Amino acid sequence: MITRQNDDRLCDESAGADSQRRVLELEAENAALREAQRALEARNAELERVNAELEVARAQLQTIISASADGIMVVDGQHRVLAVNPALEKMTGFSAAELLARPSCAYSLGARREDGQFLCDTVCPFLHSEAEKSRVVDAQVTTKDGRRLWVSIAYGPIRGPDGRIEAVVHTIRDISERKELERAKDEFFSLVNHEIKGPLTAAKGYAQLLLRRVRGTAADASFASSLEVIDRQISRVRELVDQLLEVSRAELGRMVLQPELTDLAALARETAAQLQVTTSRHSLLVQADEPVNGYWDRARLEGVLRNLLTNAIRYSPNGGEIVIGARLAGREALVWVQDQGIGISAEAQRRLFEPYYRASAARSLAAEGLGLGLYICQQVVAAHGGRIWVESEEGRGSKFAFSLPVSSPLVGSQRDG
Ligand code: ADP
Repeated sequence: MITRQNDDRLCDESAGADSQRRVLELEAENAALREAQRALEARNAELERVNAELEVARAQLQTIISASADGIMVVDGQHRVLAVNPALEKMTGFSAAELLARPSCAYSLGARREDGQFLCDTVCPFLHSEAEKSRVVDAQVTTKDGRRLWVSIAYGPIRGPDGRIEAVVHTIRDISERKELERAKDEFFSLVNHEIKGPLTAAKGYAQLLLRRVRGTAADASFASSLEVIDRQISRVRELVDQLLEVSRAELGRMVLQPELTDLAALARETAAQLQVTTSRHSLLVQADEPVNGYWDRARLEGVLRNLLTNAIRYSPNGGEIVIGARLAGREALVWVQDQGIGISAEAQRRLFEPYYRASAARSLAAEGLGLGLYICQQVVAAHGGRIWVESEEGRGSKFAFSLPVSSPLVGSQRDG
């Protein structure tokens, strides 16, 4: 039987269970909230750490940009100058404020290429898709005091997540010293050509004219032979000047090849015929029956052959046979010059192709010679993608040989000074 007393007790019990459940629920919620708060605190700490790292990186970048010896200009997608560094201020004479105040980066430095075109018209990465890649261009900018200054400008596009260029970092380097050096080099070649080779050519012309006039006349024989000596000496000086010019070109990276269809067999025959008339004690034999055709710098290879043959004659004081040969060997052309002369020691063979090197045996045999011939031969052969070598034994003659790739895809360009 349920009494009122029992009823009240049952009600009290169910209310107690409810509130206990509620307490448990609240505790669980509290625990979840505490957990969420801990996660948030951890995220906050992580964000603060990343922020601090970013701040350090930003400060480091700022220091790098400020300390850079190169000028730096950052431009955004609207062509606004966002930042410039002190090096650019110093280089151009414009303050950062003046450069930042300009409405657009375009033309802000008045940069023009060598052909006079505005750089912005041709290589702006925002406007010219083919120029979007990072690249370097030489240009002249106008400084605040109106000077034209040679600089090289490197473009470094910064892309957004969609790949579009959002900003471009221009790194601007003062290259006026390099340009001045290039101008001095050009001046050197043109000076040697006009002021040294020119008068020598004229002097040689007059010596030959006089020789033609006195030959076959009753003029004093010693007069004629003196003229021949003058003529030979002028040729010698011209040869040395040419050698020095060629060495300068090689060292200044200005040896520009002018390839043309060339038959090395025919060239060997021609060069041998020209040099045979200079000696009666040597017989020059040509071993080149088949044409050896390829695209090479004919004039320079003729120089190489002349050099090897002249050496073979000069360093074979007892005369004898000199063989010059040319043949195809697979995809290569092979050329060789073999003499029966003084030969070359193993030690000298290692140094022959160095500039100004002359073996002592050669020095005592021939006073003339700068030791540049073989160096130039090697430079010319190397410029064609080939190689040159020597096989020799002291007292038993020498064989110089070089090989050239037959299908070298050399692009012709104008001949240098
Ligand atoms: P140069 O002949 O003007 O001294 P090269 O560069 O042509 O300069 O030659 C460098 C040196 O190599 C020569 O001085 C000589 O010692 C050696 N040499 C070159 N060709 C021969 C050769 N055919 N026989 C012996 N020695 C040679």
